[in-house]
Amino acid sequence: MAEYDYDLITIGAGSGGVRASRVAAAHGARVAVAEEHRVGGTCVIRGCVPKKMLIYGAHFAEDLEDAKHFGWDIPECTFDWVKLRDNVLGDVDRLNGLYTKTLESHEVEIFHERATITGPHEITLSSGEKKTAKVILIATGARPHVPSFPGHELGITSNEAFHLDAIPKRVLIAGAGYIANEFAGIFNEFGAKVTLINRSDQLLRGYDESVRDRLLQISLMKGIDFRFNAEFIKIEENEDGSLTAHMTNHEPLEVDCVMFATGRVPNVEGLGLEDVGVEVDEKGAIKVDEYSKSSVDHIYAVGDVTNRVQLTPVAIREGQAFADTVFGDKPTTVDYGCIPSAVFSHPPIAAVGMTEAEATNTLGSIKVYTSDFRPMKNVVAHRNERALYKMICDAATDRVVGMHMIGPESPEIMQAAAIAVKAGLTKADFDATVAIHPTMSEELVLLK
Ligand SMILES: Cc1cc2nc3c(=O)[nH]c(=O)nc-3n(C[C@H](O)[C@H](O)[C@H](O)COP(=O)(O)OP(=O)(O)OC[C@H]3O[C@@H](n4cnc5c(N)ncnc54)[C@H](O)[C@@H]3O)c2cc1C
Repeated sequence: MAEYDYDLITIGAGSGGVRASRVAAAHGARVAVAEEHRVGGTCVIRGCVPKKMLIYGAHFAEDLEDAKHFGWDIPECTFDWVKLRDNVLGDVDRLNGLYTKTLESHEVEIFHERATITGPHEITLSSGEKKTAKVILIATGARPHVPSFPGHELGITSNEAFHLDAIPKRVLIAGAGYIANEFAGIFNEFGAKVTLINRSDQLLRGYDESVRDRLLQISLMKGIDFRFNAEFIKIEENEDGSLTAHMTNHEPLEVDCVMFATGRVPNVEGLGLEDVGVEVDEKGAIKVDEYSKSSVDHIYAVGDVTNRVQLTPVAIREGQAFADTVFGDKPTTVDYGCIPSAVFSHPPIAAVGMTEAEATNTLGSIKVYTSDFRPMKNVVAHRNERALYKMICDAATDRVVGMHMIGPESPEIMQAAAIAVKAGLTKADFDATVAIHPTMSEELVLLK
């Protein structure tokens, strides 16, 4: 008889948990995973994937306008939110099925239930059933943080945004991170009057100032309003179902929907961590070492619950590294250097490496090359939106240490450019590469 029911029990079947479970099983481990919502986790069910589909759907508003300038006679268009919503949710169902099949084909047992840790090697499912494992992996992700003030419960989060019955006519989005800016773009393109409220006067902290400023200018041009240095006082529901948001430093605002995109907190409540001695930091994130091991020897954690870098590809790498280390006899750590990222705003932003400010502080002497241009398509379309590409180099070595872009397709372009930055290439290497003409990305090898 084996000492434990399983070699590994994973709590949470999201990006990190699914990868870790499937790879551990491929290494020969007996694996079970507990999932309280839907297999696939945030990214697949209510994050990256459905969001990107809404971004595509939203962008047609501009494409259809632009097409007129390319000779297309576009009759008056109407937009059917319910059709888009249901098509997106249909694809989410398909992916949920695929992720489930992946686990099943690797003989990973799935418990469609909440799990809590109730002993050093034991979990208890919500049905009351207890299971034991040699190793426990916590991959429970994060959830939206909603500030506490009178009426906050009248608002929604990104979780609910994918299921709305209709596009609200007036939306107030709280927050200034990537989720807030992406949904501001989505609702705005669908014809809603969007206002973004933020505690500070900065959007997208962590991104380079020039691209943040450019997004602000373009968003204002598209009709998105901003209320900076504002904190909620209360939200009241009116007789007609609309909401009035009261905030500091600004007049009250009547809207039909308030959406909170005010950060995400690690899912650790009620997991039983204290009872088994798993330590968390001041934000509630599970403390782990470079191999994702917690303060307890046989309990590990990967993904958003550790609050290292809250992105799907990072959670996946952490899950893979965990499985290779613990079950594949191949100790592996994740390299967190030069992680590229994107904001799928309209237009999108993409970045890798240091911002200009960070590079100045770290390296002292830097060189900055920029291209501020109006993409050819925007010229013909009479769209007065300029793209901005910025390359930051270490003045001493010519090495490219950061790249920042805002403009059409910039995340697609950045994924390729990030390879060069990660590889430590220099400005001269970029210059030595012949341009593909005419493209937007050729600006990268023609930067002055
Ligand atoms: C709106 C939105 C857009 C995003 N867009 C992007 C993007 O464009 N690109 C990108 O890289 N990242 C994006 N992200 C972030 C990305 O979704 C996360 O970084 C990623 O999903 C983290 O994976 P994870 O495995 O740590 O957790 P998750 O994918 O969140 O999985 C955790 C799972 O654990 C389950 N769970 C929690 N507690 C328990 C319990 N006690 N018992 C059983 N199950 C439990 C949850 O139900 C969940 O399914 C987005 C997130 C959101 C919210």
